[in-house]
Amino acid sequence: MEYIFCAFCKHGRKAYTKKRMSFVDYIYVSILSLLLMFILFQDLHPAFFFIFFALVFVMELFISFRRRVSIQCQVCGFDPVLYKKDPELAEEKIKTVLGEKKESLDYLLKSKNPFENLER
Ligand SMILES: [Zn+2]
Repeated sequence: MEYIFCAFCKHGRKAYTKKRMSFVDYIYVSILSLLLMFILFQDLHPAFFFIFFALVFVMELFISFRRRVSIQCQVCGFDPVLYKKDPELAEEKIKTVLGEKKESLDYLLKSKNPFENLER
């Protein structure tokens, strides 16, 4: 978890920004693989490598998916990953989210106003 600021509405929030597995994650995965191997085969078994790589694959997917979801701004809907790929689509998404917020007016009851730091 890291404290980041939205590039569009400038509101701060905590988000998962880790992109890849760390060295410590690899140690955890190998310990878990060893445990699973001993539970399943009661001995050393080459299936360890299969379990290890399957767990690494799942962990990497989980970490990148978690980052992708958490890096989007909850206040204004700005998505930096989408902005890098397709700025027009990102702009469209912000307009949709801000339009919905303007209509529903529930941002008035929340601590973070998406229109607070935007230019008129
Ligand atoms: Zn934002």
